[in-house]
Amino acid sequence: MSIKTIGLLTSGGDAPGMNAAVRSVTRSAIFNGLRVKAIFRGYRGLVTGEIKEFRTENVSNIIQQGGTILKTARCTEFTTEEGRKIAYENMRKEEIDALVVIGGDGTFTGARMFAREYDVPIVGIPGTIDNDLCGTDSTIGYDTALNTIVDAVDKIRDTASSHERLFFIEVMGRDAGFLALNSALAAGAEAAIIPERKTHEEQLEELIKNGFRKSKNSSIVLVAESPKTGGAQALAERMHEAHPEYDVRVTILGHLQRGGRPTAYDRIIASRMGAAAVEALLDGQRNIMVGIVNDKIVYVPFTQAIRDDKPLDPHIVQTLQALSI
Ligand code: ATP
Repeated sequence: MSIKTIGLLTSGGDAPGMNAAVRSVTRSAIFNGLRVKAIFRGYRGLVTGEIKEFRTENVSNIIQQGGTILKTARCTEFTTEEGRKIAYENMRKEEIDALVVIGGDGTFTGARMFAREYDVPIVGIPGTIDNDLCGTDSTIGYDTALNTIVDAVDKIRDTASSHERLFFIEVMGRDAGFLALNSALAAGAEAAIIPERKTHEEQLEELIKNGFRKSKNSSIVLVAESPKTGGAQALAERMHEAHPEYDVRVTILGHLQRGGRPTAYDRIIASRMGAAAVEALLDGQRNIMVGIVNDKIVYVPFTQAIRDDKPLDPHIVQTLQALSI
């Protein structure tokens, strides 16, 4: 069946650069003679029929905006067979032949299930600040979030140094420590507590003690928000109990990490991935995620993209340790 109309949605957590991807998919599709139907609020819009045709002017002036103009939502109906049946009926009604879904692993898990039940070609674009998808060096939004965190840590460093304090800064990263680890490296923090590595608190104590004893007048530790790390607050409390002499503070960066203008890098990868998603559908590819590896577009099956073991380069961990002496 030839594809005439593409349905486009953003789903899961919002990520800066999603709008650049929406623009790219829309314009590339129109450039290739296809129609584009925007589906609002992720899979919910497919279930409720909140769908509208997009023309090139609908995506004007959005490349620089954070968030997503298509809105996003968590949709429990789509996790049920009945919900997906309604979604499929709405697709047929709107004459949508294929889908481009922008989101994270949950979004691709849903897409895979939908494509297995109904004969729908689907291509995914990785949009999540966590960078936790396999088969792509970076996900859309990760670079912007990293820069936002580094900017915040630099500011916290000023007060940490002035007051000779130990700061635990919590960042996002439920299952993946990329944000915590790389922002620690970029901001010159003393350590990163990440879900991929067991925390040895004695070592951390030793590191901080040595630092304060030697040249440092502040210490900053990045902590990924995850049940595996226990979070910054709990770690800070334990550290304060063990060392009441430290002036320990906690900052939880929270949702500010998601917002803001996407960096040039995120806009570029979003634009490239959006165009590649349309090309993939026209080439007859389906059930794949577009990725970028070594600066080249790649296509990865959903099953591979959502594996939960995206490797963290141990060299980055070692470098952070070496530089924090
Ligand atoms: P982020 O990484 O930013 O959290 P995500 O895509 O992983 O993004 P989720 O909320 O996990 O975000 O998933 C987005 C949507 O995908 C869900 O609201 C739901 O509609 C759909 N989805 C997730 N898991 C499934 C599943 N097992 N079956 C069907 N649909 C699913």
